[in-house]
Amino acid sequence: MPYSRATSVCLVGVEGHPVTVEVHIGSGPSCLIITGLPDAALAQARVRVRSAVENSDLSFPDDHTVVNLLPAALPKSGTGCDLAIAVSLLAAAGLVPPAFDTGTVFLGELGLDGKVRSVRGVLPCLLAARRSGATRAIVSVDDLNEASLVPDVAVRGVSDLASLVEYLRGGGGLVSEVAPIEVAAPPLPDMRDVAGQERPRRAIEVAAAGGHHVFLLGPPGSGKTMLAERLPSLLPPLSDVEALETTSLYSVAGLLPESRPRLLRSAPLSAPHHSTTMPAMIGGGSAPLRPGAASLAHNGVLFLDEAPEFKRPVLDALRQPLESGEILVSRSQASCRFPAKVQLVLAANPCPCAAMAALACRCSTSVRRRYLDRLSGPLLDRVDIRVDMPPVARAGLLIAGSAEPSAAIAERVASAREAARERWQQAGTADFTNARAPGPLLRSEAFRLSPKATAPADRLLDTGQLTGRGYDSVLRLAWTLADLAGRTRPDSSDVAEATGLRLGHR
Ligand SMILES: [Zn+2]
Repeated sequence: MPYSRATSVCLVGVEGHPVTVEVHIGSGPSCLIITGLPDAALAQARVRVRSAVENSDLSFPDDHTVVNLLPAALPKSGTGCDLAIAVSLLAAAGLVPPAFDTGTVFLGELGLDGKVRSVRGVLPCLLAARRSGATRAIVSVDDLNEASLVPDVAVRGVSDLASLVEYLRGGGGLVSEVAPIEVAAPPLPDMRDVAGQERPRRAIEVAAAGGHHVFLLGPPGSGKTMLAERLPSLLPPLSDVEALETTSLYSVAGLLPESRPRLLRSAPLSAPHHSTTMPAMIGGGSAPLRPGAASLAHNGVLFLDEAPEFKRPVLDALRQPLESGEILVSRSQASCRFPAKVQLVLAANPCPCAAMAALACRCSTSVRRRYLDRLSGPLLDRVDIRVDMPPVARAGLLIAGSAEPSAAIAERVASAREAARERWQQAGTADFTNARAPGPLLRSEAFRLSPKATAPADRLLDTGQLTGRGYDSVLRLAWTLADLAGRTRPDSSDVAEATGLRLGHR
């Protein structure tokens, strides 16, 4: 029967979707038709596959050939189906035995010379294939290391179409799976290098413990970047699920090193430049859509240095992921959701001239105010902690490397997070960090604090120095401070410190 099929995977956002490639060679005018909602890149497979077959010393069937991609309703993009198209075409033409079994997935792009090339998103593609029952995968040799990160799937690498044909005919030709190399992650920057700055250090510890967003305000050289870059070293290591999620995003973005890929085990830091565009921040580009800087911070830290210099719409686009933990990217042909559960760290100089010391600044009060006003209220309102970074004294610099190391702080952070997790899990919330505890829950009877405890915040609410949202922020921070101190409920000292963290430099 001049019919065959093979299995591949298409990417939609960061999700893989198994695709069945059917080929039928029938009577009619000589042509190759691809149906089943291919995008432009996939439709051009007819050109690549024909050349690759001819350059592998095989005869291309010169008949009426139809390639159909299932499920029909799924818009398909990319070049990863090339290999499956070639295999089922050659099988339909009787040149190789049929590769009908759905347990094997073919994933790779074909060059005109017959070489099998690397594709983006091998990790999420094979995870999806495994969920749908695949146990074997054949990928480009260049993707073999990344593919080996997926457990329970036997992976083989192929360098060119001729080798694959040899293998399907019962010969050798494929490169076997390599044992996954445990690549040690490079050490994260450590808090022991941030000397002095006791209050900012305390603030970043609180941020890590409760998952709170932070705004660091201070002159150049005060250590804003140093602190932000060290937040990941205080956060708990990623769980298995989180590691696969975050690494998959890096895979789809094409950012995993080809030779020695590894699962990202610690919270990532993504620090886009202030000139970054909307698609570079939230994701987009041509199909298959790529994740942006916000998604590369998924399960980690999104650091925006010189935050007032970012374009306003780019900053405002972050409100959606801060609320929901994901970004909906829509294009005319495709739309998808990219996860982006991030902890935000904003940093800013107090004024546009970025003077090292207050005395050297010649900006007027109104210029300084307008500069910080570029950060929109709704975005800043979601930031629980504001920190005023004083200029670093010379004495502080001299003892750099002598401060408390990240590991010691991370231990306190871990026990505080555990206390919060127990509490909010019992309360039935979906997220277990204090920063994401719903306001109504905080004010409910079970978690309402005594009037004596909330007195420092109540006064500020009455005088209008705290908004309603700000008041909830204070409550969240107070719970984090209590968790860090090992108290079961916040007391008035926690609430007082929390108001200081919320109001910061105002
Ligand atoms: Zn200035």
